[in-house]
Amino acid sequence: MATVRIANLSKTYGNGKSAVEALVGVDLSIGDGEFFVVLGPSGAGKTTVLKSVAGLVDVEAGDVEIAGVSMEGVEPYHRNVAMAFESYALYPQKTVFDNLASPLRSGRTGRYTAQQQQQRIEAVTTTLGIDHLLKRFPRELSNGQRQRVALGRVLVRPADVYLLDEPLSHLDAKLRAQMRAELKQLGDMSNTTSLYVTHDYQEALALGNRIAVLRAGRVVQVGTPEEIWRRPVDTFVAKALGQPEINLFDVTAGQGALRGAGGDLSVPVPRHLDLPEGRARIGIRPRDLQLGPGGPGTLSFRGRVSLAERLGRLMEFSVDVGPQGGSERVIVVADSDAGAREGDVVDLHLSLENVHVFAPA
Ligand code: ADP
Ligand code: MG
Repeated sequence: MATVRIANLSKTYGNGKSAVEALVGVDLSIGDGEFFVVLGPSGAGKTTVLKSVAGLVDVEAGDVEIAGVSMEGVEPYHRNVAMAFESYALYPQKTVFDNLASPLRSGRTGRYTAQQQQQRIEAVTTTLGIDHLLKRFPRELSNGQRQRVALGRVLVRPADVYLLDEPLSHLDAKLRAQMRAELKQLGDMSNTTSLYVTHDYQEALALGNRIAVLRAGRVVQVGTPEEIWRRPVDTFVAKALGQPEINLFDVTAGQGALRGAGGDLSVPVPRHLDLPEGRARIGIRPRDLQLGPGGPGTLSFRGRVSLAERLGRLMEFSVDVGPQGGSERVIVVADSDAGAREGDVVDLHLSLENVHVFAPA
């Protein structure tokens, strides 16, 4: 267990015309025992953050500290970190047990007695649900089982910090959800410090004690899942946190209200915001909208259903709002269809506290 401090970290790959600024002035402080998630789209610099902590890339500026000790000039081999990459290999000719034991039989953490190996392997495989597979060979495993064994190989070794690079990305949806729950359990139980990278917002919200949102090499927001979900700092963060994406409208702020969509949207300016008169954007999550007229304390408006689709237990509607039911489209995800069909004019409402206000585009 250890803290990790990343200070003013910058990394550029290549040079001249082909230079790519992968990280620009990244600051992160990860607490002892924290499960810290870095969320961002592909190319945002997530893997580069992990590699910098592991010492696998040369950074041109900034510092990494593990357990209060600067890692400047410290070789990867001498950093007590365990890193799992997106795709990882197993020894095909070794059983699952021997695959898991090999990190304990070599390397800088020293050698473990047979009994110690047994104990660590048992703990990890029970949590990952692979304790019944110890005698099998990799070829006798499903893809999901193989991925768990590979993850087990990383977790079995004691380390100050575990660096996990999208370890669930190659699993199908069902297995991913299951493994997410297991990882959550592992994180809660083990009290180890983990830096976990993903492009999947659901994973980030479910697993992170805290989340940093990374955009083009810069940290745009750090907070608990609750904070990031409730108060995304900008439309990039808001859009990263939902599927279907948050609805965004350009509005005009004036006389204590926000107006848009040809006047059909009229929202009192929330008290916590100090908005100048002029343009702004508001964001409404599809799941926060409800069909039917709203009461006091809600924002309500009307529109015409242009598309109604069933998504499992939920319904997704596209509703055209604005003058003559036309200028803007909102996506609504509702528990029931409320009898609404394509072509119907419907009332929509949401609680005012679920209206997010952002700077103009
Ligand atoms: P992520 O893991 O979020 O997808 P990466 O850290 O892998 O992002 O990459 C960040 C940026 O740096 C991307 O634009 C990527 O193309 C670039 N990059 C990563 N590794 C290299 C490399 N070895 N050489 C050149 N460019 C690289
Ligand atoms: Mg990556």
